[in-house]
Amino acid sequence: MQVRANHRYCKGCNLCVAVCPSRVFEEGKDISDRGYVPPRIAHPERCPNFKRRTRKNAVCEMCILTCPDQALTWNEEGGSE
Ligand code: SF4
Ligand code: SF4
Repeated sequence: MQVRANHRYCKGCNLCVAVCPSRVFEEGKDISDRGYVPPRIAHPERCPNFKRRTRKNAVCEMCILTCPDQALTWNEEGGSE
């Protein structure tokens, strides 16, 4: 599974970029429909949960717990941002 950002909620605060110990996120460049600049999930394979299949086995959820806008979720299907 990998983390996914919902751009309908993200305000581009970049707290997830700062908190991730695995440097999964990078600051974004593109403006969302809401006028914010969401980060890019540039290296999802670096997340220690990347090869895990369900949230109950997650060993880190720092980004999801830190996001003030609940914009981050797990995509348990794999998929992309
Ligand atoms: S779960 Fe942890 S390692 Fe994975 S992207 Fe979020 S903060 Fe980074
Ligand atoms: S912490 Fe949440 S609101 Fe802030 S940039 Fe990351 S996904 Fe967007």
